[in-house]
Order: sequence, then structure tokens, then C-alpha cells
Amino acid sequence: MVKTVGVLGAGQMGNGIAHVFAQFGYRVVIYDIAEAQLEKALATIQQNLERQAKKGAIPEGLVGETISRITATREMKDLAGVDFAVEAVTEHEPLKLDIFRRLDEIVQPGAILASNTSSIPITKIAAVTRRPEQVIGMHFMNPVPVMKLVEVIRGHATSDATFALTAELVGKLEKEMAVSQDYPGFIVNRVLIPMINEAVFALYEGIASAEDIDKGMKLGTNQPMGPLTLADFIGLDTVLAIANVLYDGFKDPKYRPCPLLVKMVNAGYLGRKSGRGFYTY
Ligand code: NAD
Repeated sequence: MVKTVGVLGAGQMGNGIAHVFAQFGYRVVIYDIAEAQLEKALATIQQNLERQAKKGAIPEGLVGETISRITATREMKDLAGVDFAVEAVTEHEPLKLDIFRRLDEIVQPGAILASNTSSIPITKIAAVTRRPEQVIGMHFMNPVPVMKLVEVIRGHATSDATFALTAELVGKLEKEMAVSQDYPGFIVNRVLIPMINEAVFALYEGIASAEDIDKGMKLGTNQPMGPLTLADFIGLDTVLAIANVLYDGFKDPKYRPCPLLVKMVNAGYLGRKSGRGFYTY
């Protein structure tokens, strides 16, 4: 039975993952190399819980109770006793492989090691450990406390027991699961990024204005926002990076990133975060 969960990385995703596990009664040990990130994560969790309580989504008393279940650390050895670990450190393959090698040495045998990676094959991560059957992908969506979906990715060696326990945890967090095999982009990015890329091609080929492409998709297919607006939200550099994961991973020209997308990233037009993308902010 899972009682204590380790979270590696206290960034945007790590703090959300720690938040939801603690909210649903698990003890959480959150680990990061940067003290400032740990402090910021705890402050963010507190703020987000207070917001949830104000909206009536959780009882007032749960705020303090949830926070009290979380311990922050800069020592990976403090994860030795966890029953389940979710890694959410920076998306950099050599870093993740090194983290999993060390995590495998430190964490008690029997514990499951999950990764929140968006693009690195779970099979590759699992292969650096001595427990590939107990390694799995658990891809949360941003912002974690709000988004209902978790993509669960089975690596080549992931066992049925590991999968069943992970699926049970998704349910305990009151989230829904979509199960994917371990191929580039999993499900959501595999479908979403080519759609955004095609919208950029439509703009590039002069088929329509950015406004009309977005209006067409928003009102014509009932999406909350058009694909170019969404790309500005995600960050054009991130969209391009994921497009390249699909292109390189499948070696299929159908995934080639639109030259306009590449040019905009080169120009520093990264979307909302840089003040300029397909729209000006
Ligand atoms: P982030 O940059 O906000 O956080 C990364 C954290 O990792 C930082 O706090 C950093 O200090 C820490 N870190 C770096 N090196 C470390 C090390 N050696 N040991 C311990 N901690 C270390 O990144 P993020 O957006 O939270 O992304 C984390 C993971 O989640 C990535 O794999 C990313 O692909 C994935 N992801 C991100 C999103 C998203 O929308 N941001 C969505 C789904 C999945």
C-alpha cells in the first residue's frame, strides 16, 4: 500500500504533483537541488490550497492538514523510504537518466519509480535501473490541481502490477487516466502538436489570418481557444521542441515543423511569455 510519495523536482509540475498527493492523504517528500525552488513550491502550494478553500472546492481545515503532510529536502537519500516516486525535474535526458540511476540505488526495493516526462522514452529511463518492471510514465497536465487527466505510459518492461497500482493512484487523486504505449508524444501531444503545426502551416501558406484560423477552430470545433492562441500559451519554443520530438522519433516527414514556427522561435517570438507570438500581449 502506498503511504509516502517522493516527488523529484519542485518546479511548476513538481509543486502541483506534491499538492495533489498531499491533498488526498499521502505523506509527500519533495526533493530539489535548489533551496529557492523548494521554498517557492511550498508557498505556491499554500496559495493554491487557500484559493481552493475560498472557492469552496476543499474544506478550510484541509489547507493546514495538507501542508503538514509535505516535507521538503535537498538530499535524495531522504527518499529512501518512499513507496512511490514521481520524477518531475527539468526535461533533459542525461539529467533524468542520472536521477533514475541514483534513485534506483536509494529507494527501497519494491517501490515504483514514475516519470512525468513529456518526451523522453519511459523504456530508456527504465533501462538504467535494476527495476525496469517497476518504472512507468505518469504524465500530469498543467496546472496539476486543476487538470483532470493523467496519461499513464507503459514502458516496454512495465509490469501489470506496476500499471495496476499506478492506475489505482490516479483514481485516488480523483483524476482520469488515458493509457498510452511508449511512443513519441504519447497521446495528447501526438494529436495536439500536429494540429497546432497545421494551423501554423495554414497561416504560412496565406490560407487565412491568425484570427480566422483561431475563430474557425474555436467556434467550428468547440475548442476553448484556437490553436494559435493555445500555441502562444504553451510557448512556441516548447511547441517546436515537441514537434521535433515527433519528427525525430518517427522519422516521418508528416511531422516536420512549419518553417514559420521555426522562424518565429529564432526571432524570439515565443508567445505570451515573451510578449509576442501569433498575437501581441
Ligand atoms: P521546471 O523548470 O518548472 O522545474 C524543474 C525543477 O527541476 C526545478 O525546480 C529544478 O531546480 C529541478 N532540478 C533540476 N535539476 C535537478 C536535479 N539534478 N535534482 C533535483 N532537481 C533538479 O519544469 P516543469 O515545467 O515543472 O517540468 C518538469 C517535468 O515535467 C519535465 O519533464 C516536463 O517535460 C514535464 N511536464 C511539464 C509540463 C508543463 O506544462 N510545464 C506538463 C507536463 C509535463
